[in-house]
Amino acid sequence: MFDVVIRGGTLVGPRLLESDIAIIDGKIASIGLDLPGANEEIDARGLHIFPGLIDVHLHFNEPGRTEWEGVATGSRALAAGGGTLFFDMPLNSTPCTVNARAFDLKLAALAQSSITDFGLWGGLIPGNVSEMPELAARGVVGFKAFLCDSGLPEFPRADDLTLLDGLREAARLGLPVAVHAESQELTQGLARRFALQESDSIRVFLASRPIVAELEAIQRATLLAQETGAKLHIVHVSSGRGVALAAEARARGADVSIETCPHYLFFTEEDIERLGAVAKCAPPLRNASERDSLWTQLLAGAVGIVASDHSPAPPDMKCGDFGRAWGGIAGVQSTLPVLLDRGFYGHGLPLDRIASLVAGEPARRFGIPAKGSLATGMDADLTLVDLSRSAQLQPQLLLQRHALSPYLGCTFRGCVERTIRRGETIFAGGKVTAYGKGRFIRPVQN
Ligand SMILES: [Zn+2]
Repeated sequence: MFDVVIRGGTLVGPRLLESDIAIIDGKIASIGLDLPGANEEIDARGLHIFPGLIDVHLHFNEPGRTEWEGVATGSRALAAGGGTLFFDMPLNSTPCTVNARAFDLKLAALAQSSITDFGLWGGLIPGNVSEMPELAARGVVGFKAFLCDSGLPEFPRADDLTLLDGLREAARLGLPVAVHAESQELTQGLARRFALQESDSIRVFLASRPIVAELEAIQRATLLAQETGAKLHIVHVSSGRGVALAAEARARGADVSIETCPHYLFFTEEDIERLGAVAKCAPPLRNASERDSLWTQLLAGAVGIVASDHSPAPPDMKCGDFGRAWGGIAGVQSTLPVLLDRGFYGHGLPLDRIASLVAGEPARRFGIPAKGSLATGMDADLTLVDLSRSAQLQPQLLLQRHALSPYLGCTFRGCVERTIRRGETIFAGGKVTAYGKGRFIRPVQN
């Protein structure tokens, strides 16, 4: 007897396949037509079934900054967007996850209240390379470093020597290093220069973070990664030229994965003028032609992973003066809607490529073999989507801590109807249906 059978959905994979899925003990036990009955039957006729989203980059800020987000609210919002697993960044929690003690505190907090499964990033900062082995032994998915100011004094940027040492140590440990790739020298110098010349804080911000600052940092990080043999993951690449430069390094033999975020595929810098600080992030949103070239790179297969970089802050830090506002976009619920509406409907991006960007490739790159695809024996992490339904994002639909998002008011074709984590429905009919029970997932080194 199966625990759950999902009937008649269209499975998203290399071929679209209409089938039943049976689940036992949280795993996919059988895929086929007319499977026998189960304790729980779910009718998925007319729906598409994706592997549950794996969001490799977000900030739930717990412990220590739960007034910004928190795992209980953040994981519910992730589930509402079709997510079943996330990797939490080492900041903006307090303490930042830069040693084993901080790791243990975060693990305890997340295990208590996450409704989705979760993994943890460690941090790479000046002086903590010696902590990396213990963090690896605890089960981090990799190490995150900033090449420019992180926005938090307790998480200083990695200078070149720290990056070199960290990459070498990560290579020895078999784990990737993720970098925020913007040049400190260029962004800081330009910010000083333009602050004197210009009174509009949006103009100053955009002018201080040009694409060349991203390109310079990508060039340097890929060079050091190739030199050390480390796996490098470049987070939130904002421009088509950035993707192209990283892909060139990969073609030369560097082990590089490229992530972009839905907001770089959806918005342009004109939207910053319209939306204000809610659309402030770093690297910043780019102009329409740069956004289009990012799409060109993604459609050509150069981008492997799309992640939300959900980085919320309280309303008083996202309103008022743009220059002082927190740089981070709260979009954890909108990744799949953006990829379906703008990707599948807008650009003809095949559904199985979407599944690869948000589940298959994240699982492969970060060593999570039990997740990321629909096959017998895999964890039953499933996202049921109605491609024919459209919905406008309203504040009451946002399940995160603060109902702030640049996507509010936008209408998306394609809606998440149900999210299933290891066989248990955690989101359905617009409501969260589970409390806790998310599990810590550690990578299997390949
Ligand atoms: Zn981030």
